[in-house]
Amino acid sequence: MKKARVNKDQCIGCGLCTSISDLFQIGDDGLAEFTAPEVPADAEGSVEEAKDSCPVQAIEVED
Ligand code: SF4
Repeated sequence: MKKARVNKDQCIGCGLCTSISDLFQIGDDGLAEFTAPEVPADAEGSVEEAKDSCPVQAIEVED
């Protein structure tokens, strides 16, 4: 399965990814985090969409 992470050095906390996939949430620090250990197969589309939609390219998805 793929893994996803948010690079907090780049995230600006806009919340867009959380509106696209509920596997992202805004943490206590006001920045996004990916909440699952891996990307479930049925969530790959929305996670990729969140990655592509992030205005500062803070989301990384890797195989
Ligand atoms: S879309 Fe990008 S900048 Fe916005 S909260 Fe998500 S990871 Fe952070």
